[in-house]
Amino acid sequence: MAFFLLLEIPPIAALIYQDGKLKTRHFVSSMGFAFSISPKAKGARKKRKMLGAIAGDIIGSPYEWKNIKTTNFPLFTPRSRFTDDTVLTVAVAESILEKADYVSKLKEYYRLYPSAGYGGMFRLWASSMEDAPYNSWGNGSAMRVSPVGFAFNSLEKVLEEAKKSAKVTHNHPEGIKGAMATASAIFLARTGSTKEQIRSYVEKEFGYELSKPIDEIRKTYRFDVSCQGSVPQAITAFLESEDFEDAIRKAVSIGGDSDTIACITGGIAQAFYGEVPEEIAKETMARLDEKLRSVVEKFTEAFL
Ligand SMILES: [Mg+2]
Repeated sequence: MAFFLLLEIPPIAALIYQDGKLKTRHFVSSMGFAFSISPKAKGARKKRKMLGAIAGDIIGSPYEWKNIKTTNFPLFTPRSRFTDDTVLTVAVAESILEKADYVSKLKEYYRLYPSAGYGGMFRLWASSMEDAPYNSWGNGSAMRVSPVGFAFNSLEKVLEEAKKSAKVTHNHPEGIKGAMATASAIFLARTGSTKEQIRSYVEKEFGYELSKPIDEIRKTYRFDVSCQGSVPQAITAFLESEDFEDAIRKAVSIGGDSDTIACITGGIAQAFYGEVPEEIAKETMARLDEKLRSVVEKFTEAFL
């Protein structure tokens, strides 16, 4: 899509390269369609990959049960691995790609990766014949939703699809809200909204409080797997960040459910900053297996 738009609007593309380097990432085409572009990715004929949420999960994974209250830590260690957040994010991506229903995809991926670290309720649901949702308000609905924010091209559709992806398990209002807030932040971030616009939209629409600084949150934050107790903090880590890596570091630094918080932050940060830095993308891809990598590639090809 981005490549097509570039061909269609040569004056804007030319303007980018006259400048030598890009000062602002967001442009609106003559058709009024807002989009993001990375000159580095285009120059190298490389596409941005759907890796923001997955990188957050992998980077946060060593710290979920061993919290650190600092932004100063190694991004990748021998213990950094993909967990349930990645598996279910990829399941949602494949549902969208194949137009398959969320219930069967989530269950299929659970069977493929039974030991990825799922919550107890999800495990029971995924391993049973029962398809009815279990009224969860856990952050699982928000951790898996990022592909929705990238794949659909209006805010209305993104909100509707986020709700649909959540309520197959997380049909509690807070579970649905966490997915909708995360997906809408991704959509707004990738279509040119400023951080202030994203902050005020999410505060107004979902009632999350996003003004408490990360340095304050870090002092008292404790493990909390609810949407309402982790999604606002994850969004705040993005809002306060200077770049993708800084967003992930801030997300992990508050402690708590580190892989999931960094996963939620990572999806939004990628949408806003345009891509995952190359070194982080490389380390992330190297920690996926062939199947997960191939879905990431297909989703990237189709939507990013
Ligand atoms: Mg996890």
